Amino acid sequence: MIEHDVIIVGGGLAGSRAALEIARTDPSLSIGLVAKTHPIRSHSVAAQGGIAAVLQNADPNDTWEAHAFDTVKGSDYLADQDAVEILTREAPDVVIDLEHMGVLFSRFPDGRIAQRAFGGHSHHRTCYAADKTGHAILHELICNLMGCGVTIYDEWYVLQLILEEGQTKGVVMYRILDGALAIVRAKAVMFATGGYGRVYNTTSNDFASTGDGLAMTAIAGVPLEDMEFVQFHPTGLYPVGVLISEAVRGEGAYLINSEGRRFMEDYAPSRMELAPRDITSRAITREIRAGRGINPDGSAGGPFVYLDLRHMGEEKIMSRVPFCWEEAHRLLGINAVHQPMPVRPTVHYSMGGIPVNTQGQVRSSTDDLVEGFFAAGEAACVSVHGANRLGSNSLLECVVYGRRTGAAIAQYVQNRKRPDLDETPYLADATRQIQALLDQTGSYRIAQIRQQYQDCMTQYCGVFRSEEVMRAGIARLKEIQQLYNQVYLDDKGKCWNTEVIEALELRSLMIVGELILTAALNRKESRGSHSREDYPNRDDASFLKHTLAYYSPAGIDIGYMPVTITLFQPQERKY
Ligand SMILES: Cc1cc2nc3c(=O)[nH]c(=O)nc-3n(C[C@H](O)[C@H](O)[C@H](O)COP(=O)(O)OP(=O)(O)OC[C@H]3O[C@@H](n4cnc5c(N)ncnc54)[C@H](O)[C@@H]3O)c2cc1C
Repeated sequence: MIEHDVIIVGGGLAGSRAALEIARTDPSLSIGLVAKTHPIRSHSVAAQGGIAAVLQNADPNDTWEAHAFDTVKGSDYLADQDAVEILTREAPDVVIDLEHMGVLFSRFPDGRIAQRAFGGHSHHRTCYAADKTGHAILHELICNLMGCGVTIYDEWYVLQLILEEGQTKGVVMYRILDGALAIVRAKAVMFATGGYGRVYNTTSNDFASTGDGLAMTAIAGVPLEDMEFVQFHPTGLYPVGVLISEAVRGEGAYLINSEGRRFMEDYAPSRMELAPRDITSRAITREIRAGRGINPDGSAGGPFVYLDLRHMGEEKIMSRVPFCWEEAHRLLGINAVHQPMPVRPTVHYSMGGIPVNTQGQVRSSTDDLVEGFFAAGEAACVSVHGANRLGSNSLLECVVYGRRTGAAIAQYVQNRKRPDLDETPYLADATRQIQALLDQTGSYRIAQIRQQYQDCMTQYCGVFRSEEVMRAGIARLKEIQQLYNQVYLDDKGKCWNTEVIEALELRSLMIVGELILTAALNRKESRGSHSREDYPNRDDASFLKHTLAYYSPAGIDIGYMPVTITLFQPQERKY
């Protein structure tokens, strides 16, 4: 059995920032960090546009209160405002701390950190490293981690959370290199496992964003919060879904329909292309539905709209958003200096997740906590984003709450014994589970079932939703879930068996998708990213509350939890 004081699952921004904080707080603690990828291949590395913080470099009139208000309004008033206050007040400090670690932010000519406009933010407050911000931050964090004695288990897949009598005791993990299984026993377990974009067929997320941490938490009987809120980013490159950062619109790009018109004036006249993502994604979807989308041959009635950078000029495009230019060029052969890019909404971010308090401690219900279990980053729901996240607030959440959760864990494990744990049944179960996958004699390949599943979620639980469509979706999803036992693996070996990993990830996708659909069906209103055609209005009287969804193989139970409102009373949300 492997032993640590703390085991962190996830090497993205949230997990690595937490690990660093624990090591800084108490260098004598033994910290393990596991990731199924190498940590610097976590999805955080792909973050493009930036990280929000009121540094007042571009705009001396900006305040944390304005950042908090924008965030709460953007969330359609579902965010917990105590958590938003912490996020926005601590933002300048964590960004300066990152700079001191060595992160190379882009700068104004006078040397101060540059700040740009972003959707839903009322001031220019997004700090950035061109359009490769996640790369700049994650590499520096991991470099800093290497120097402080954290044991990194890279390319190990965690397949179970060990939770006995209300207390987490460790995890079960599988080494991808050779199929070895190991149990880790620890005083505290932290999940920072990122998002689940792969539940859908078109996403900006990496292949590893399969919601494993969410599924393991749900299987262990811990509820998940606000799973119905799935963020569709307005500008996924057509047809692949790869992200074209909001920074491109922050720097001045236009959205154009088949009539050559900037249609955002019909939807959010005061903010135009820089309206929040839920509103912009719905606007694009409506334009496409109304026949004002564009076809690959340029004719009207097609599946995408144009993102037009041409008026920005070559110099600005190449210095501020070079990566986005490169993506369109590499994937579609488009030179955005002279041609518009085809875009449409793509699944991007999970507002919901593992419910935590502002110390990162996981909730087992509205009032109770799970002993020894922590979470942060996209996998968690502290809820700073409520029903819709603003761009550049997620990297910020990872760093602010990664740091806070790390500090809370360092405190929690002091003077505490390692829990009693018998590893035998866990090892036997995991061995049986993997052997069963290898022995199965079905006729389906993993990719076939995964594709059907992703198509189902995309068709029945997309930008617009309704009772009838979602009920049909749940029925279809149940049929596809039955096929899981008919998966056939070609590779029966132990060395780098990616089929075993994909089969385990498919299990995660299936659980997460069912939770999303069930939570969405139960929320009979439209709020933020959750847009019901049969309930088009926000209904504060009935639904100004967080969903808690409890999973069991027999079905999903839905409960609700109050929203914390401290600073701003809910108002109608207009831009
Ligand atoms: C293309 C793109 C651009 C973005 N741009 C921005 C931006 O400009 N600004 C912004 O604020 N946000 C942006 N976001 C969102 C933001 O990047 C993410 O929400 C954030 O980085 C998530 O960090 P994380 O630490 O929570 O998880 P991740 O970085 O996703 O890391 C998850 C970690 O968990 C590990 N893991 C998962 N499951 C297992 C398992 N079963 N066993 C072992 N390890 C496991 C993975 O290996 C990985 O190390 C962007 C997102 C995308 C997809």
